[in-house]
Amino acid sequence: MKLKTKTSLFAITIASSMLVILITVSLYSFRQFSISTAQERSVTAAEVALVGLTELMVNGVIQNREAFLKRLATIQDLKSVRIIRGPLVAKQYGTGFDFERPMDTIDEKVLATGIPYFGIIDEWGEPTFRSTIPFKSNTKNVTPTCRTCHDVSEESVLGAITMTFSIASQKNDVFFTVFIMTVVISLFGVLIVFFMRRLTQPMVITATNVQKMVGNGLNGDFSSDIEKCTNVSNDEIGEIAQDIHKLMLYLDKGLDNIRSSVAQLIQFNPTKEGNMLANTMDMVDALIETSQFKDAIEEDETKREVYCRLARTIREDFYIRRFSIYEIDAKKNKAVTISVDGEEGAECRWCSPQILIRSEACRARRTGHTIDSTHNPLICPSFQPGDDEERLQHICIPVIQSGVVGSVVQLVVDQSKPETYEPLLPYVKLYLREAAPVIEAKRLMDTLRESTLIDAMTGLHNRRFLEEYVETLIANAERNQKQISIMMLDLDYFKKVNDTYGHDVGDTVLKELAKVLKNSVRTNDMVIRYGGEEFVIILVDSVQPSGDAVAEKIRAAVEQMKIQVTGAVLKKTISIGIADYPTDGDSFWQVIKFADVALYEAKENGRNRVVHFSPEMWEDGEEF
Ligand code: GH3
Ligand code: MG
Ligand code: MG
Repeated sequence: MKLKTKTSLFAITIASSMLVILITVSLYSFRQFSISTAQERSVTAAEVALVGLTELMVNGVIQNREAFLKRLATIQDLKSVRIIRGPLVAKQYGTGFDFERPMDTIDEKVLATGIPYFGIIDEWGEPTFRSTIPFKSNTKNVTPTCRTCHDVSEESVLGAITMTFSIASQKNDVFFTVFIMTVVISLFGVLIVFFMRRLTQPMVITATNVQKMVGNGLNGDFSSDIEKCTNVSNDEIGEIAQDIHKLMLYLDKGLDNIRSSVAQLIQFNPTKEGNMLANTMDMVDALIETSQFKDAIEEDETKREVYCRLARTIREDFYIRRFSIYEIDAKKNKAVTISVDGEEGAECRWCSPQILIRSEACRARRTGHTIDSTHNPLICPSFQPGDDEERLQHICIPVIQSGVVGSVVQLVVDQSKPETYEPLLPYVKLYLREAAPVIEAKRLMDTLRESTLIDAMTGLHNRRFLEEYVETLIANAERNQKQISIMMLDLDYFKKVNDTYGHDVGDTVLKELAKVLKNSVRTNDMVIRYGGEEFVIILVDSVQPSGDAVAEKIRAAVEQMKIQVTGAVLKKTISIGIADYPTDGDSFWQVIKFADVALYEAKENGRNRVVHFSPEMWEDGEEF
């Protein structure tokens, strides 16, 4: 219940209670007063009547008593007066006039008992006081005494007088007084309501405004106009209003500062709609999550791990199921598919494969801007969803690394449900901004690491790579129960090339040889520049004698190799030693050694040939 209603009810209850109590007390008092007044008047009238009647009797004109009584009846408010002759007098003097007989039981009772009767009766709708007072014989202090004329004993009832008085005028007085009282108390009640309302008005306004403000606060709006709304008085209510106003201003300003600082960090300008506190809390949560994400990717070992984590975040935290992550190879002007719909290294699904060959075909890569077809349909012709996926649009966000587009993250969204992606965009962009320098650092590290594992001249992996990779290689072979063929290759009489044509020509020969070797094996197989002009080829998943056949194929291909040098065409041959793991040796490095032993054997046996290792080539106990 409102305070205003409560105050009014309180005042009305007080006034009504007062009214009821006063009216009850007044009515009761008036009644008692009227009765006692009428009683006194009737006793006086009875005494006057007794004196009068005695006089008439003494003077011997008692027969004129009717006229006397009529004169008596002219007393104000005395409606009727009647004399009743008692049985003793009737016995002595006869029954008298008719009206002198007892008229009712009251008369009879009073005559019989000698006890007066006083009471209020309703006589034809008019409130009337009735008294029946006995006349008793009495000799004391009175001359003549009753017993002078009446032959009766002392204190015996001679008769009675019955009178009725109208108390209508008193009743009217009561009603008038009650009316005046009602008017005064009602006025008093109205005044109480008025003053109490005036007194409680600032309290009510403050309470209403505080309530409104708290409601706004729950919806994230801490702006306050309580001071303006409230008649600020210098009492406690005014002080409360001012303090609350100050508190709200402080909160509002604080929240505004936090919001704009956080929004600046996120590079996002939130609208002033909705629950600002909830929005700010969401933004702070997002910042914390982004910072945790950044910590995690910084500790990731490779760029690939970072991309995997990013893909997982897009899928599991942002609930975006359709997306692509492309990496741009600026040197080769190519885009490489890193992840499609969360599947690592899957084929390009949402864009024309053209972008893989020519990265400029990707508009986000070319412009460095976010390309959003939800606002601008058909903006990028390279976006090619399936025929039944027309409602899908793309938002392609370039990830800038050192001023150039290093990767592109493409979100494929359902345009008919903007609520599923629009609010997420600022946060996705935030994650990508945080990820960008980390990806770049990992990329540089990967490149650097790769460069130490690759031979700069031939582009083949080097011996160090083999040393690092050997564990994985063996683990894979053992897991898949596959055999590995290891070839050791050495050009025949290579020194001569250097000696005859110089070192540069020698280098050219090595480069050409590397190409021939690479083209002679499957992509899964490994060609390693093991030393100066020595190479190791590892055939994974090899089955004897297929390893020997490949070696023979390589030998023949090298034999066919023609190298154009100034003024001549060079032809070289190669010798190959081959051994299998684990068939020929217990450890990988032992098998390498056995392949080298077989190579030596090939050299010894005239070069330009393939020799498979056999145990006779290796004397027992010989160290390797
Ligand atoms: P063999 O048939 O016995 O193998 O005779 P060879 O002359 O090839 O002898 P060897 O394998 O010992 O020759 C190694 C030579 O390869 C020595 C060195 O001059 C040359 N060489 C090693 N690395 C390079 C290189 O990077 N560039 C050039 N041009 N020559 C190299
Ligand atoms: Mg050699
Ligand atoms: Mg050689």
